[in-house]
Amino acid sequence: MELNRIYDSYLKSGIVTTDSRTCFTGAIYFALKGERFDGNNYALEALKKGCSLAVVDDVNLKNEPHCIWVPDALKTLQQLATHHRHQAQVKVIGITGSNGKTTTKELIAEVLKTKFSTWFTQGNLNNHIGVPLTLLSMPPGTQIAVVEMGANHIGEIAQLCDIAQPDMGLITNVGKAHIEGFGSFEGVKRAKGELYNHLKIQGNEIFLNGDNHHLKEMIGDYSGTLFRYGNDENYEVTGRNVKADPFLSFEWKSKNQEWGKVSTQLTGAYNYENVLVAITIGLHFGISDKEINAAIFNYQPVNHRSQIKKTEYNTIVLDAYNANPSSMEAALSNFADMKGENKILILGGMKELGKDCQKEHQELVEKALKVQPKTCYLVGAEFQNTSTGADCINYFEKSEDLREHLISNRIKNATILLKGSRANKLEELMDLL
Ligand code: ATP
Ligand code: MG
Repeated sequence: MELNRIYDSYLKSGIVTTDSRTCFTGAIYFALKGERFDGNNYALEALKKGCSLAVVDDVNLKNEPHCIWVPDALKTLQQLATHHRHQAQVKVIGITGSNGKTTTKELIAEVLKTKFSTWFTQGNLNNHIGVPLTLLSMPPGTQIAVVEMGANHIGEIAQLCDIAQPDMGLITNVGKAHIEGFGSFEGVKRAKGELYNHLKIQGNEIFLNGDNHHLKEMIGDYSGTLFRYGNDENYEVTGRNVKADPFLSFEWKSKNQEWGKVSTQLTGAYNYENVLVAITIGLHFGISDKEINAAIFNYQPVNHRSQIKKTEYNTIVLDAYNANPSSMEAALSNFADMKGENKILILGGMKELGKDCQKEHQELVEKALKVQPKTCYLVGAEFQNTSTGADCINYFEKSEDLREHLISNRIKNATILLKGSRANKLEELMDLL
């Protein structure tokens, strides 16, 4: 009953907000609770600023004009999103995985946009609040929504699937990320596999990296529609001759077709699988090879992911958006294969590893040394107890400490990999590189 009333009001403006500082006239304000704030305290302010309705769960606001009281405002936001997703008759593509969700989501959207009205998760709004907001911010007439689903605990992807009800989807990969919340690698598989569970029940379309044995094992026998991509000519789409020096390009073809070539503005051989699934989904939606290749070439990575930056002095692989053991390994292996005489590593500590923290950082240092860098700067207390025995290693507790060092020891004529967890803010060193 309340939901219908809220939905009628939502349809008038098509805008919801959870932030009283960004209220637009006619928007519906949802009073959510965070660790440090209670959105109910800002409901009246939101109305004053022009919101048409405030959905609240504080009983003290029950009788306030234009406030709709519900037992749980977050739940109502999620229910409204699900309701809208069905009313809007949109096809939803769900994406989860340990690494590459955002990049893959953006590549898929870039391709689908050539032919369909496509909406996609903005930035990294991929959680229990971001997913409903993604659905509720779809412009009218949206035909396909590409929805990123993130998690750091078991059960979260299942919940996001309940909200977004994807018609098709993919898991990019499973790796060592958020181990603290998932408990173990098996936990990661279970958690990400919740997307497969949802899609399987409905007999929906799943896009599968056929080269990834973990994903293959997680799918098991599937009688629904499976589209495979990878290094086998029997797959729907296959690729070969992968080059990433510094930008990724490769040849690809769909079954019984001719080989063609795609070039990208992304660095990192690891992006091969991200691009390949975007191609597979594009073909599935009837987009031509030519349009797909052009769309992928047009995509420019943003936000410190897989970017190549040339400064006056150096060439930098800027991949400082996030890091975990799997993406570090992928980035190091890509960097090792890149041309460049004077290779320097700037690596930031990885978060959320729980009891594996020490072991994973030790392994990381060993892998880093295999790249044979001229210098390797390690940033973050996580590295404190790693033993290296190598002269090229320089340890700094904080990024500011490295900053100080670089001011008097500028790096020149080098190829640099800059990668670490977001908290290290390694990208802030760019002005010195
Ligand atoms: P988050 O969990 O923060 O949302 P995400 O899964 O959305 O991350 P992206 O933001 O697309 O991932 O990429 C983050 C980093 O992960 C990239 O900069 C790159 O280093 C690494 N990465 C991307 N794709 C892959 C891949 N297919 N395999 C391994 N690492 C990858
Ligand atoms: Mg992301």
